[in-house]
Amino acid sequence: MAASLSTDIILPNPPPDLLLPKHAEFLSRYGTSKEDYEYCMTEFLRMSGMYWGLTALSLMDKLDSVPPSDVIAFIQDCFDETTGGFSPAKDHDPHVLYTLSAVQIIAMYDEFKAVDCSKIVSFIQSLQQADGSFFGDQYGEVDIRFSFCAVATLSLLKKLDAINARKAADFILSCQNFDGGFGSKPGSESHAGLIYCAVGTLSILKEVDRINSDLLGWWLCERQLKSGGFNGRPEKLPDVCYSWWVLASLTILGRQDWIDQKALIKFILSCQDTSTGGFADRPGDVVDPFHTLFGLGALSLLGYQDEKLLKLKKINPVFCMSQDIIDKLEIEVQILPGGGAS
Ligand SMILES: [Zn+2]
Repeated sequence: MAASLSTDIILPNPPPDLLLPKHAEFLSRYGTSKEDYEYCMTEFLRMSGMYWGLTALSLMDKLDSVPPSDVIAFIQDCFDETTGGFSPAKDHDPHVLYTLSAVQIIAMYDEFKAVDCSKIVSFIQSLQQADGSFFGDQYGEVDIRFSFCAVATLSLLKKLDAINARKAADFILSCQNFDGGFGSKPGSESHAGLIYCAVGTLSILKEVDRINSDLLGWWLCERQLKSGGFNGRPEKLPDVCYSWWVLASLTILGRQDWIDQKALIKFILSCQDTSTGGFADRPGDVVDPFHTLFGLGALSLLGYQDEKLLKLKKINPVFCMSQDIIDKLEIEVQILPGGGAS
């Protein structure tokens, strides 16, 4: 459990307060100028970037700081009528990764009529393989991340019956390693981000109880370093996005109290940029919407609140969306009961 100094960091003491108004400002400003360096360099991520930013804003109840008509017009522009998938930006190829982001945004705005959802269902259906796995797009790469995207998309569309759900779960289970973790495909190295995809998929399919939760729970706990932050794999530096992947997985497994929550909160708060707003992967690094969402998401999972100004809304550990949206859609995921003492 003890980490060597070379794979951990020293935190500022004390950590800053949670600066929600600054984060809201950072996100609503981000990428608004099309001449921005970030805007031009991240075209291949535009759809996911929009999901990260809007979800973070919705957790702060600030979704109204972005005009909904602009968001929906962007979604429609990225919809590929032929395949039924979404691309990251206009004139790019559709992929299941961006299709999930698009459907999450559609759900956030309750705009299911904005595109032909039956085509999205056909797109996802067309990606499932005989062994239950999913291609990401027409090029045929298989990855557990694509299983999560496919299953989460269909769940949000209330069309899980369009695929072979049992086989989808069987494939996920075939990716579990002897150490309890999951890799991108059978036999691949365990990694916290992929574990989140595995556990999240099984939670939607209500098959989490088929995995060895104690073994996996221990592997996840061992990701916490002395600084309080989590790494994604052994011998790596802590990174705020793993606060989300690891903590959300432990939450689904009913083992959130197996880690030092106070130390994790300190680490996450230390990753804020107190002048510009936003979170970075580690204290002092450049902030971005990706780490801002996952920092806020982990704080929400921990029930952390900024007493003074804004309140963080409750987040769903599987969909990484505000819980009230998931409730409105009447989607239930499987969360295991508490796993006992650590
Ligand atoms: Zn990261």
